[in-house]
Amino acid sequence: MGEILDIVNARDPFEKEFHQAVTEVVESVKPVLDKRPEYRHNGIMERVIEPDRVIQFRVPWVDDRGTVRVNRGFRIQMNSAIGPYKGGLRFHPSVNLSILKFLAFEQVFKNALTSLPMGGGKGGSDFDPKGKSDNEVMRFCQAFMSELFRHLGPNTDVPAGDIGVGGREIGYLFGMYKKLRNEFTGILTGKGLNWGGSLIRPEATGYGSVFFADEMLATQNDSLNGKTCLVSGSGNVAQFTTEKINQLGGRVVTLSDSSGYIYDETGIDEQKLNFVMYLKNAKRARIKEYTDKYKEAVYTELDPAADSNPLWTHKADCAFPSATQNEIQVKDAQNLVNNGVTVVSEGANMPTTPDGVEIFLDNNILYAPGKAANAGGVAVSGLEMSQNSMRILWSRQEVETKLKGIMKSIHSDCLSASEEYGTPGNYVNGANIAGFVKVADAMMDQGIV
Ligand code: NDP
Repeated sequence: MGEILDIVNARDPFEKEFHQAVTEVVESVKPVLDKRPEYRHNGIMERVIEPDRVIQFRVPWVDDRGTVRVNRGFRIQMNSAIGPYKGGLRFHPSVNLSILKFLAFEQVFKNALTSLPMGGGKGGSDFDPKGKSDNEVMRFCQAFMSELFRHLGPNTDVPAGDIGVGGREIGYLFGMYKKLRNEFTGILTGKGLNWGGSLIRPEATGYGSVFFADEMLATQNDSLNGKTCLVSGSGNVAQFTTEKINQLGGRVVTLSDSSGYIYDETGIDEQKLNFVMYLKNAKRARIKEYTDKYKEAVYTELDPAADSNPLWTHKADCAFPSATQNEIQVKDAQNLVNNGVTVVSEGANMPTTPDGVEIFLDNNILYAPGKAANAGGVAVSGLEMSQNSMRILWSRQEVETKLKGIMKSIHSDCLSASEEYGTPGNYVNGANIAGFVKVADAMMDQGIV
């Protein structure tokens, strides 16, 4: 499989995150390619690493002082073998082609795991919504959509939110799309409830990651009840991860943002979580302010350049990284193992570095990679698309039951694939193989395109 990595290295020598994501999948699926030579003969791997289409565009907008600002917009339409392109938009200053290609690549297999008809894509901009007024965010979203709209459609490409893109941004993006096309169709998911959104969509990624952890624990006749949990991030995924852990009887003791983290040994209960939601979603403040209200908590600043993160040094049973890629480095993984963590469920995409993953696998940690553990978000996006097509709204209970069922079946598909290919309980191999086979079979059926 070295030749696949050689192609990626030669074509895109500087895309390190994309290389990281491809390397992991290539290593996992080698035994599948040995068993199914037709995949090699049909160049499945060579085709799957090359996006169907990469769209890059200028996004000019005017800030509140009247100054013209220019950002870069992207959409990676990675693979449409099993459905329209589907995957979030990320607005963050770190966004570049490598990060979006890694996310789009992972999304292809994640979406296949849900068993819903969705291809894979990802997009976004290096725009930073932090510190911008609502009007500035609106003008940026309108400028972004004034180019992206021509590439979207309910049967073509249906983006959603991701880092920096929540309900507010989806609303502004949708409004502009509707104006340009004069058409009210489900071309975005994560929409407001009263204009086409689905119940449980905001909760889905966090809830799903907790359901997956509970499924892994169930294989050991255990559950989350009574478990102490470390959660990173304090955005959409972290908030609803915390909510579901609380509902299942666990205790969350940390949350973070890019500036620092809070440690609250007494547990971030429902009331405290409501305050975090107010801080982050309404006031758009820093997590540090948690300690102004709850004196029992301790705040620690984070050094983004450090080779480890003190959040991962606390004694706990489970870890739910829910902020960003590569936030668990090799030292962090070792600290987690040393401090008694036996379950890691990734709400974020690729939050653990490859050497960190090796430590989890060597120590028989119940380790769920993002493409399996955080698939609940896109799964409910798929359910939002179905509701839009049928012009109906399922109840909270109905959507949550479907989400739980999907996470259960992703868990069992990953486990079966890991067993079939000789690495039982290795969810990394299981997720990569189960997702890859679904996509590869569809590509085989559709010929060389
Ligand atoms: P949000 O923007 O709602 O929250 C992101 C959180 O992570 C914030 O607390 C943010 O802190 C922190 N963060 C972002 N970048 C960094 C960084 N470079 N270093 C440290 N902290 C950082 O995003 P989401 O909760 O939606 O997404 C979190 C993760 O989950 C991402 O990896 C995303 O791809 C993944 N994911 C999200 C899905 C969804 O449905 N939303 C679906 C599947 C995966 P700050 O405010 O300081 O930037």
